[in-house]
Amino acid sequence: MPAPDTPHAADFCPSPNHGERLTPISSLILHYTGMPTGPSALEQLTRAESQVSAHYFVDEDGTILQLVPEARRAWHAGRSFWAGETDMNSASIGIEIVHPGHADPRPFPDRQIEAVAALCRDICERRAILPRRVLGHSDIAIGRKIDPGEFFPWKALAEQGVGHYVEPARIIGGAALETGASGAEVRDLHRTLADYGYQIDVSGNYDEASAGAVAAFQRHFRPALVDGRADSSTIATLRALAGS
Ligand SMILES: [Zn+2]
Repeated sequence: MPAPDTPHAADFCPSPNHGERLTPISSLILHYTGMPTGPSALEQLTRAESQVSAHYFVDEDGTILQLVPEARRAWHAGRSFWAGETDMNSASIGIEIVHPGHADPRPFPDRQIEAVAALCRDICERRAILPRRVLGHSDIAIGRKIDPGEFFPWKALAEQGVGHYVEPARIIGGAALETGASGAEVRDLHRTLADYGYQIDVSGNYDEASAGAVAAFQRHFRPALVDGRADSSTIATLRALAGS
């Protein structure tokens, strides 16, 4: 049994679901397990037939288990994209956080989030991962994944030194860019999202894929309203984030 890569892990609970890394580690990806209980999720992540895993598993009480050595490519991201990289499994470390998911969007316990923050700080320091490379699964798998959810406390994590965060701009209603729109404003939005890392064509046409990318951005950075429409609050939040 290998020793954990971090002093924060209580134990190693090996998963067979991993392979060889093909690119250097640049990102940290957070997930919720989306299963009714922690034990059922752990069973799934360590069973060969499931073909899924993550490097770390954080239980509701804050206990951290390591499932896959950091040097190996764990199978947590699936089809994915960030800033031009399409093999995010190779380019990242993945953390599964026990939570039932959107079926029961209850708050993540404080001690669980404190454990996640301590683990993230340790990984980012050892692996030189930039704050803006601490991402949700939903950021890198637009239209396919919605974890760790708009109810995930990114702000609390930022207050504990993890991730890239700006206070979301106030929602004031009014006009918004939405499906069917086109032109320079849409192109600007596309470019800013693409430069930040999101998978989006800089076409200037607000299509379904644009709405999906905006919804992914909102889920992480403007979680009070996730509707895929680029209102003034969404655009201001994105600009502030991109410029910070
Ligand atoms: Zn996930």
